[in-house]
Amino acid sequence: PIQLSRRVRSMALSKTVAVTDKAAALRREGKEVISLSVGEPDFLPAPAVMAAAREALELGLVKYTENGGTMALREAICEYLQRSKGVEYTPAQVICSNGAKQSLMQCMLALCGSGDEVIVPAPYWVSYTQMAGLCGAKSVIINTRADEGFLLQPHALERALTPATRVLILCNPSNPTGAVHPPELLEALAAVLRKWPRVVILADEIYEQIVFDEKHVAFATLPGMYERTVTINGFSKGPAMTGFRVGYIAASKAIAAACNKVQSQNTSCPCSVSQHAAIAALKVPKSFQEEAIANFREKRDYVLRRIRAVPGVTCETPQGAFYLFPTIAPLLGKRTPKGVVVEDSEALCLYLLDECHLALVPGEAFGDGTCLRISYAASMESLKEACDRFERGVSLLQ
Ligand code: PLP
Repeated sequence: PIQLSRRVRSMALSKTVAVTDKAAALRREGKEVISLSVGEPDFLPAPAVMAAAREALELGLVKYTENGGTMALREAICEYLQRSKGVEYTPAQVICSNGAKQSLMQCMLALCGSGDEVIVPAPYWVSYTQMAGLCGAKSVIINTRADEGFLLQPHALERALTPATRVLILCNPSNPTGAVHPPELLEALAAVLRKWPRVVILADEIYEQIVFDEKHVAFATLPGMYERTVTINGFSKGPAMTGFRVGYIAASKAIAAACNKVQSQNTSCPCSVSQHAAIAALKVPKSFQEEAIANFREKRDYVLRRIRAVPGVTCETPQGAFYLFPTIAPLLGKRTPKGVVVEDSEALCLYLLDECHLALVPGEAFGDGTCLRISYAASMESLKEACDRFERGVSLLQ
């Protein structure tokens, strides 16, 4: 028999697989499944981005580029971060990869190994704990509370820090909760971190362009945090370029050089065509993003209103990203019309999929089995139908 590595054996298969597989099976049977489970905008990138991708082909930009991205792209990213976040980086501090996911993995490989602890506030994005595990590091989970808006509290951070802590991951705005940490809270977290100079902050700010009433503050701008913060960002969310696969880090020169080294042995440069398109994305007029935000806001408010009207469901008003993370705890323990007990969020999601052909992501995937995640990046028509199905599905539970 083939012996797989200990590393891979210790990895968990994504909790979303059961739901995704079932959704695919139902579709094969000809059922019309509505899926609010994917983490991507439902619109195309700006026309200038599509034109730049075509132009890249016409110009023959189809060869390897510099390992960490073309100078033109890295300069454009520096200019963007300066303009939009007020933080200064030079191109040597920016390393572009094939997506923020790759950037995160490379950072973790560059920063931590066995014996190290990685602090991950929960609910967390599915890959953080698995990435820490792949590096041999231990994840230390801090549970945040729905009634505190899923925000990381300074006293909770203080309790979790130890001499073994190497990395704090702060996803802001958050996937899955949509929580945006206000500036005063970030200041308070930075004040705690100043006492622990060895800890590096991986600030996953990939949703920074999608914020509603809060202002997004980049962690690297906080006093004393610049050298210790790795800003993770990319082109999948705001610019809606998921399939182009471009992400980046901006960090101190030493961390950037380490990530560049890891990437040089791993994948080399990101796709040349996508890099050319990414430069165009950074130059798209602000109105593109403003329109997207207005559209997301309307959808957020619609779905919020509908699900809050469902008995047993409560939900915070998220300030960013395009997810809702309602608490469904009062529904657990109820029975489906077929008599199956809804033990956890996964069981509820499988029931909604089976009976109502509605695909949502169970909260267990994000470390919280009392919630589920709804992505409202879908057409208004699908959202209306999805809310009808959700309402009906829940009303049939006894
Ligand atoms: N970080 C968070 C919080 C995400 O939600 C995602 C995508 O779902 C990523 C990183 C990865 O994005 P990319 O498509 O750039 O790899």
